[in-house]
Amino acid sequence: MSLLAVRDLKVHFPVRRGLLNREVARVRAVDGVSFDVDAGETLGLVGESGCGKSTTARAVLQLIPPTAGSVKLGGEELVGAKGSRLRELRRDMQMGFQDTSASLNPRMTVFGTLSEPLRVHGLAEGTSELEDRVRGLMRKVGLEPAYMRRYPHEFSGGQRQRIGIARAIALEPKLLLLDEPVSALDVSIQAQIVNLLADLQSDAGLSYVFVAHDLAVVRHICRRIAVMYLGRIVEVCEARELVRAPRHPYTEALLSAIPVPDPAIERKKKRLPLAGEVPSPLAPPSGCHFHPRCPKAEDRCKREVPELRELGEGHHAACHLA
Ligand code: SF4
Repeated sequence: MSLLAVRDLKVHFPVRRGLLNREVARVRAVDGVSFDVDAGETLGLVGESGCGKSTTARAVLQLIPPTAGSVKLGGEELVGAKGSRLRELRRDMQMGFQDTSASLNPRMTVFGTLSEPLRVHGLAEGTSELEDRVRGLMRKVGLEPAYMRRYPHEFSGGQRQRIGIARAIALEPKLLLLDEPVSALDVSIQAQIVNLLADLQSDAGLSYVFVAHDLAVVRHICRRIAVMYLGRIVEVCEARELVRAPRHPYTEALLSAIPVPDPAIERKKKRLPLAGEVPSPLAPPSGCHFHPRCPKAEDRCKREVPELRELGEGHHAACHLA
């Protein structure tokens, strides 16, 4: 049994108008997403901004109530759970955010930030026990415990991301949902945070869902990658297989946008430019949602919705040509 099982997850936001506040349309931000994450595994959730990946992560954690579907962690259903039951289930699943300047309270010291979840869940009491636990957490993420009385603005971006990770692991969860955890950081700092996440995973057997717009980062970290487009998964398989032999034109386009360090190879590389923006999920294109931007689109792509089909060895893609 997988640690996390997400089935047919939907997040639709009704658009209401008029005196009677009637629903006139629906934004289908997430529209039938299914995936599994095993214990100790990292799954990448990739796509351009607006494709629904962050909303999926938030709906998995029930920070946004799903419209439909099922989210099971260790076999326990989260959808519909409320109050103390939901809090208990959420302990095993925490979120890490890209924007630490928004997710860390600027008026709270590192000690305040890291001790809060421990106090709320009754895992430590009294200042000296809490300080011990906070020191341990800071060491785990490579921060100097002597700085526990400092405020977020006194740290660099990379150090703030470490504080965010320390907070996320404070309750010793089984799964972290990481929303663009390295996107705002310099490349050298990105590597340090990625290494830290890998170390935490091998020490504690943590599972990650790694949300990112950049396949270049994700392909080195994840065992499997799910590519999302306009609220749906369009391709999912082992990371190496996805990079070697992508089967969906959207994945091909994302991969072709990754620069290659060798200029000679870069010149020869086949480019599949992605024209335009992700269309609004309020009025998605008919048939295959990707057809207005797809260089391989055929007539039937405008009419027929491609199913996510198994292509062998866990490789799935939703394209008529795959
Ligand atoms: Fe392109 Fe058609 Fe495949 Fe969609 S179904 S990705 S439009 S070829």
